[in-house]
Amino acid sequence: MRKKTRLLHGAGSTDQASGALAVPIYQVSTFDQREKRPYQYSRAANPTRSALEARIAELEGGCRGFAFASGMAAITTVMMLLSPGDKVLMTADLYGGTYRLVSQVLKRFQIAVQFVDSSDSQAVAAALGPDIAMLYVETPANPLLSVTDLRAMAGLAQASGALLVVDNTFATPYWQNPLALGADLVLHSATKYIGGHSDVLAGLAVVRDESLGHRLHRLQASTGAVLGPQDSFLLLRGLKTLGVRMEAIEETTEILAGWLNQHPAVQRLYYPGLAVPTQRAVHDSQCGGYGGIISLELGDAARAQALARNCRYFTLADSLGAVESLVNLPASMSHGALPAELRARLGITDSLVRLSIGLEDVEDLREDLAQALGG
Ligand SMILES: *Cc1c(COP(=O)(O)O)cnc(C)c1O
Repeated sequence: MRKKTRLLHGAGSTDQASGALAVPIYQVSTFDQREKRPYQYSRAANPTRSALEARIAELEGGCRGFAFASGMAAITTVMMLLSPGDKVLMTADLYGGTYRLVSQVLKRFQIAVQFVDSSDSQAVAAALGPDIAMLYVETPANPLLSVTDLRAMAGLAQASGALLVVDNTFATPYWQNPLALGADLVLHSATKYIGGHSDVLAGLAVVRDESLGHRLHRLQASTGAVLGPQDSFLLLRGLKTLGVRMEAIEETTEILAGWLNQHPAVQRLYYPGLAVPTQRAVHDSQCGGYGGIISLELGDAARAQALARNCRYFTLADSLGAVESLVNLPASMSHGALPAELRARLGITDSLVRLSIGLEDVEDLREDLAQALGG
């Protein structure tokens, strides 16, 4: 099966018992145990969630998938693989909520964190010591779209005995499959492209081997931040159109990125398709598309505010990856949890704007940005 076919006909895409083309919403907490059946209690497993978990495991090429109540619930549960005294090495420009989790919550459990520019493999090699239990990367990263070499990370993590975890939210399983490149575990905020319609909050995780799968299932069932059956259904539905959505978003984003890159109000544009040649080559070697996110440095906070507020079709909102285009001011919104000096060091300025391109007509989006950028 090729990629778009697999989104429709792979494991967990239909209901085995009834032949229904959509897996039903098993809105149920518990199951009759007088006869031996696969299900006992929905925290441990639920048929709708199991279908979704089988789907994402197949799409990411892993052995087992897990669905959680949000991206952060998935990330938190994965972090519970760690123990007090362990240390995590992380991409520096990562999602603000993940930064808040590690710096404010995990720290209290004696799990230390160190940040590194993971687009620099040599910097990662230098930082990876025997004390690092987990290497955690995002590529392309949020919000500056920095690119990390996943094959290089897998080699380094394996050599030092660290677990390689990849947040694959921006690339989606349609464009990038980190497990095939050597990662141990892949994560998604399925709230974004996988759900895709601004109507569900969800997280997904997929592991490469069964022993890690067993450990993560114990944690998922023990901590209980599972995805409900209705939301599992919405993700199963969203996955069916992931391919056509990503192809359409890709096409529009490429046109807008090329145009914005020439616009006099744009001082610097962040987009993997227009990254410096070395980063772009790494991206091309591991990811099939450049995605739907463009970040713009406008050099002027008032201008950034004006762009964010004066668009007609780009809604000022948290989140990304929706059918509707969205605009975000990372410094005060998605990355507000980062300390100001860290934001400044990374380049997450008050004049940075992040655009998430949706499915509107490209000419409407271009005209909208043109009027909101002014001049
Ligand atoms: C949104 C996001 C998350 C968090 O997911 P939620 O579903 O909002 O909890 C994690 N990582 C990345 C890259 C994100 O964009």
